[in-house]
Amino acid sequence: MSLIEKKEVPREVALQNIRNIGIMAHIDAGKTTTTERILYYTGINHRLGEVHDGTATMDWMPQEQERGITITSAATTCDWNDARVNIIDTPGHVDFTAEVERSLRVLDGAVAIFDAVAGVEPQSETVWRQADKYKVPRIALMNKMDRAGANFFSSVASLAEKLGATPVPIQVPLGQEEDFEGVIDLVTMKARVYKVETLGAEFVEMDIPAEHLEQAQQWREKMIELAVEGDDEVLQKYVGGEEITVADLRLALRKGTCNLRFTPCLCGSAFKNKGVQPLLDAIVDYLPSPLDIPPVQGIDVGDGEPAIRRASDDEPFSALIFKIMTDPFVGQLAFLRVYSGCLKSGSTVYNSSSHGKERIGRLLKMHANKREDIAEVYAGDIAAAVGLREVVTGETICDRSDPIVLESMEFPAPVISVAIEPKTRADQEKLGFSLGKVMQEDPTFKTHTDEDTGQTLISGMGELHLEIIVDRLLRDFGVGANVGKPQVSYKETITKSAVGRGRYVRQSGGRGQYGDVKIEIQPNEGEGFVFDNRIVGGSIPREFVGPVETGVREAMESGVLAGYEMQNITVTLLDGSYHDVDSSELAFKIAGSMAFKDAVGRAGPVLLEPVMKIEVVVPQEYLGEVIGDLNSRRGQVGNLEPRGSSQIITASVALEEMFGYATVLRSLTQGRATHSMHFERYEVLAPHVAEELISRTHGRLVGRA
Ligand code: GDP
Repeated sequence: MSLIEKKEVPREVALQNIRNIGIMAHIDAGKTTTTERILYYTGINHRLGEVHDGTATMDWMPQEQERGITITSAATTCDWNDARVNIIDTPGHVDFTAEVERSLRVLDGAVAIFDAVAGVEPQSETVWRQADKYKVPRIALMNKMDRAGANFFSSVASLAEKLGATPVPIQVPLGQEEDFEGVIDLVTMKARVYKVETLGAEFVEMDIPAEHLEQAQQWREKMIELAVEGDDEVLQKYVGGEEITVADLRLALRKGTCNLRFTPCLCGSAFKNKGVQPLLDAIVDYLPSPLDIPPVQGIDVGDGEPAIRRASDDEPFSALIFKIMTDPFVGQLAFLRVYSGCLKSGSTVYNSSSHGKERIGRLLKMHANKREDIAEVYAGDIAAAVGLREVVTGETICDRSDPIVLESMEFPAPVISVAIEPKTRADQEKLGFSLGKVMQEDPTFKTHTDEDTGQTLISGMGELHLEIIVDRLLRDFGVGANVGKPQVSYKETITKSAVGRGRYVRQSGGRGQYGDVKIEIQPNEGEGFVFDNRIVGGSIPREFVGPVETGVREAMESGVLAGYEMQNITVTLLDGSYHDVDSSELAFKIAGSMAFKDAVGRAGPVLLEPVMKIEVVVPQEYLGEVIGDLNSRRGQVGNLEPRGSSQIITASVALEEMFGYATVLRSLTQGRATHSMHFERYEVLAPHVAEELISRTHGRLVGRA
């Protein structure tokens, strides 16, 4: 094939006109509907899919449609006036916090959607705090203004009370509940009424009706006072009594939002097609472009020192892979956020996380309902690459001559697992392949083989997370398999130091085997696994040190008490000996395993169990029952906090005790309580529980033998 000369394509959209945003919300607040409307009004989407028919555009995986929740963070691109808005889908379910974190990592700003009837709800708090952690500027939409009980101002107040935010209304509603007609823009002081006939695509702009004028003026004054504080020039004008123009105000509001000083609040009804276009305007007017956020940080691969990359096409290319997914039509897609430089399709890039080279086959812009081939993607933008084979979510790809590893994401350890048994040999092969795919896409999903039973176990972040993965394996990948009951992922660790020795010596004529290793193991609480080589004087040649570590790691996969993975241990290689002819990598690997197994029995091994943080929102009258039930589950009930006529209970409970909790809670409270749960920490198992678990596992192992 002849080489095709690629023409330089100029940047289509100026860097300052790019918005990478996430939409975050409590489940049911209206995220899917709002996203749908945004895609509709930006002209991408020509049909209004309704969430309740399961045809909404963003939720395109069948499981999501059935469950009505959004699981994957696909990125969707749309255009609004001169701006390009990349919407990075952010799941609202707490079983998927890692998905939320990974999208927060690559977006520059967010729209937080609240239900104007309920205001801030517990799950929105979790996501809000994550956004605080990543310093993501936000605007808030009080949605569902048409519903009975909707109240814009009390929802806005709940942002201050419950989240400690500084909300600033930049609109007030024109009517409320069934009389909600449109919005009053406090910046331009105009009212917008939406035409029902054209699904809100058309609206009438008019003067503010007299009965709303006073309230609008009051809120405008508050907005101006807060906004001008952040911009000296505008502040001078204001103090001097000069007129503040619309442009001045927008500038000051933009600065305050980008500096996280306040959160502009809008109102609307996505479902009734009201207030969506002003939301798009606000995204462009107030949320940051890639130029408004600090340069991305990373580690220079050359000298190991911290380094930054500015958002500029002239910097060396760097991008973070934030999502891998399998697309039914083009195969595997790697979603990437370009932080600096630009990337051409057909070019070769360096994976600085794994030190491999990869060729970019095609580059795609993903729209809600079509994929567009593009020749290049520039700094600040988001695209999907086809053809990257080895990449894993969280890795950096960059310019070979200027390699950098961008700050990656932290993923919590999986806490729950389920056994999966393929039905036939062919299924076995399919399963292996499919598990590999899913792991590449989802760093919080792990799989391993139980050494004792030979079973394949898959682990994840919660019951729902695993359910969805199992569903994909059986349905999308067509694996025939039996699936067991979910089990808690216990771990094992040690509580004191011990020294161990492993000698693997076989001499039976011809070439023998010789490995001899002495190690010390120590607790390393909360810090994971560390391997420290202290060999001096070459008692073990350097090429055999790696195999010793591998042997130790293998031994740690299956703990001595009940066969669970061991964690938080420092292993120090102290001494050993070798044989000129008989020593080999294999012999030292086995000796390493033996030394670890020798030491671990004397190191006070204990079992660890995952403890979950749970929040239950419960009407006052059921409070006693719910707390009583939590106590009976070995739960430690912490804070109680009133919320309206309900109470929020916070508690820590062992995951083991929480299976099927949703059903129990429903029957205890006649379906009037909601709860959310996520991993908190691993804790040493109480001795009597540990004993029972150990005898149960031994029973299983003996039964098999
Ligand atoms: P998500 O879970 O946050 O994605 O929320 P959805 O967009 O799926 O909406 C949840 C439910 O609320 C659906 O039945 C929507 O039709 C409904 N809904 C969304 N927006 C509005 C709104 O503005 N007003 C009313 N009354 N219902 C809405």
